[in-house]
Amino acid sequence: MADLRLALLLTAVSPAVGGVLVRGEKGTAKSTIVRALAGLLPEVAVVRGCRFACDPAAPDPQCPDGPHAPDSPHYRRPSALVELPVGATEDRVVGTLDIQRALADGVKAYEPGLLAGAHRGVLYVDEVNLLPDHLVDLLLDAAAMGRAHVERDGVSVKHAARFLLVGTMNPEEGEPRPQLVDRFGLVVNVAAPRDAKDRAEVVRRRLAYEAGPDAFAARFAGDERELAARIVAARERLPHVALPDAELDRIARVCLAYGVDGMRADIVVARCAVALAAWHGRDTVTAEDVRDAARLALPHRRRRDPLDPPGTDEEKLDEALAEADAQQREEESRQDGDGPDSDSGPDSDSGPDPDSGPDSGGGPDPDDDPPPGGGPGNGGSAPDDRGPAPRQSEGGAGPDDRDPARPRTDAAPEPDNPAGAAAGAQAPAGAAYRTRTLSIARRGTGGHTGKRSPAYARRGRVIGSRVPQGKLAGAPHLPATLRAALHRRGGRGEGSVVHPRDLREAVHVGREANLVLFVVDASGSMAARKRMTIVKTAVLSLLRDAYQRRDRIGMITFRGHEADQVLPPTSSHEVGVMRLASLRTGGRTPLAAGLRTAAATITTERRRDPRRRPLLIVVTDGRATSGPDPVSVAPALAGVPTVVVDCETGPIRLHLAGRLATALGADLMPLDALEAGAGTHPVRKAA
Ligand SMILES: [Zn+2]
Repeated sequence: MADLRLALLLTAVSPAVGGVLVRGEKGTAKSTIVRALAGLLPEVAVVRGCRFACDPAAPDPQCPDGPHAPDSPHYRRPSALVELPVGATEDRVVGTLDIQRALADGVKAYEPGLLAGAHRGVLYVDEVNLLPDHLVDLLLDAAAMGRAHVERDGVSVKHAARFLLVGTMNPEEGEPRPQLVDRFGLVVNVAAPRDAKDRAEVVRRRLAYEAGPDAFAARFAGDERELAARIVAARERLPHVALPDAELDRIARVCLAYGVDGMRADIVVARCAVALAAWHGRDTVTAEDVRDAARLALPHRRRRDPLDPPGTDEEKLDEALAEADAQQREEESRQDGDGPDSDSGPDSDSGPDPDSGPDSGGGPDPDDDPPPGGGPGNGGSAPDDRGPAPRQSEGGAGPDDRDPARPRTDAAPEPDNPAGAAAGAQAPAGAAYRTRTLSIARRGTGGHTGKRSPAYARRGRVIGSRVPQGKLAGAPHLPATLRAALHRRGGRGEGSVVHPRDLREAVHVGREANLVLFVVDASGSMAARKRMTIVKTAVLSLLRDAYQRRDRIGMITFRGHEADQVLPPTSSHEVGVMRLASLRTGGRTPLAAGLRTAAATITTERRRDPRRRPLLIVVTDGRATSGPDPVSVAPALAGVPTVVVDCETGPIRLHLAGRLATALGADLMPLDALEAGAGTHPVRKAA
């Protein structure tokens, strides 16, 4: 908790440190602390009438509401705290350009978005790991450049957008892309306090607040005023803080010993150490500043092996710090031989200072280097490429490293054991294979960009044009617009060439991501070790496929007398793989309960995010030995796109999965046809 406060205060002192990512479970009060930060920031002077919060002392020359005269009237207001909701659209974030008005009135009609609102304040993204990738990219680009940029069909608007970026995430909800984590300057892990005194203090404050919010605020207002004044003082001191060569060396050594990629880590540590010195009222960075800065800026930057036990990052950092210290002492003792006082030499503050204050976004900056490892989906340490059984030699393999030729380990060493109730709990999955693409046939609205089901999209292949419903939703379709204009003019050469009502918008199709919800039979009928291995391998392969297609996933199993939501919908495929590995099997087969839980889950998720379409994958042989007939659940799942993966094996078959698929209006896919390239006509339309 102290780390989080310090990290937030440091970015407030030096926004160049580059934002804070807060990782923590629900109920750790992280958002309360973030909101409190905004209250500590100094007031800003704003040009009256400017929607882009221009500073009267230095108005943005590109301000869409400008140009502002040097002595424009202005007012003072608190720094903004803008919250970016996970469901925000691109227009909401960057603002909208109204092409219709541009055509009709000949003006750049621009409505500012959230990035404009956050200028000179805090942009707070709760659950940043759930934000769609294209929004994340927009956000990080703006944060890195200090500017926002909207472009629609050759008309473009740019405006200043310098803000403190603070994101929170619950690691249980899924790890964000490594590229995203890397772009945050500091990352802080927040856990409920482990110390009894700290816990008591949290509760005491909470009770005091509940007893009288006003009295509580008054009690802490003094602290707040003090902190706010300290931020202002540190900001003023910041440009004058020196970073001695010895400390710059220490930073380089720690980063090398810790095994970080590129130069960004060094720069963030340097900026953070300078901010720390300013915060402590010092004019020179000390070894302690460097150590503290490294702890805030480095742990998330190590090229890590996903199989490392938790806590490894911290241990390695301690080692790296110790190593840098030892090297430094060695060098100092060597120099001590030459002269008595060369430890912090007279040239210590003449070196180039990597921190030139909050406005250092100017020249070429190594920050903007693309992260090594290439584009999205190519993260070097993506979690999905390993089975639950550790395969050490493949720890570094990326998600695109699929190898259909790799032999599948579906031959378990032990013979089948049909009576063994819990045998499947230990049945390992084999190596994941590339699966056929299971998708929703009907075109979606493209709520979440991804790679699974066909959908209308903002970009992608143009398949036609239409008359816009109100505001233009995408790019104009020029040939159709011209055709409409020609038609209206009917061969007469007068009047405007193109009238706003001639506008036609392009209709694009692309692919969207879905919620892929698995319902997996974990009953005794699946418990035969070899069979469970085949089923687990299939589900593992589908999980990996869902990761590559950027879907959300969820898993429900059923055994005994009830269904179990073993994986509530999440984007953490890593958690999915873990839950699959520890799956328990045995007992009766309550298939109906599994389907009913699926229906309830889908209803809840639809309420949460109506734009994400569900795809239900039921892994079963169709047999039910507990609870009602599964066909009776069909009405609850009406309209839900479903694939039944038929696990029935053996010479005598009951084809119950086919019966279920028919009732659900689902596609039927035999388990052994799931692998891409297996068989020619794997999918039998059930109905
Ligand atoms: Zn302005």
